[in-house]
Amino acid sequence: MTIDTAETLRAAVFAAHAHAGQTRKGAAAEPYVNHVLEVAAILASHGAPPAAIIAGLLHDTVEDTAVTPADLAEAFGAEVAGIVAEATDDKTLPKETRKALQVSQAPKKSDAAKQLKLADKISNLRAMVQSPPRNWDHARRCEYVGWAGRVAAGLKGVNPGLDALFETTYRAAIAHLAQHE
Ligand code: ZN
Repeated sequence: MTIDTAETLRAAVFAAHAHAGQTRKGAAAEPYVNHVLEVAAILASHGAPPAAIIAGLLHDTVEDTAVTPADLAEAFGAEVAGIVAEATDDKTLPKETRKALQVSQAPKKSDAAKQLKLADKISNLRAMVQSPPRNWDHARRCEYVGWAGRVAAGLKGVNPGLDALFETTYRAAIAHLAQHE
């Protein structure tokens, strides 16, 4: 499968519009779209399927913006919308429940959603090292990294290159936290 550049860029523009004005939680307050671009770039550079790369660009729109699953299905088709749906938490549930569900549901996801979620965790772990949220103390950062590792355990086994990148990123995050107590 070849990557459709026009379709991919259309998704990038769609995500940029949807996330306009939103920033990441980290101290650097980067534009939110930087995160979804990074996730898509990680997927593309590790040979993920085109639908997963496009879903990577769109993966936080339903959870964090006014975009609906129906909007995505209409604009990008059922396959992409389905992958995004698999990567979207149910925000009506309490945060701790959502976090537990991410761990327990990870092994049941499709191969495309597993790769997307793994790339998402890689991006978030990098952010935890490079620009952690100012109001998160050391214990909370450690807890986050440990949880990301437990989710990732259920996502591995589809794409060896991505698995290896997660492992490297996870170890770097642990080492960084150990040095910055
Ligand atoms: Zn994300």
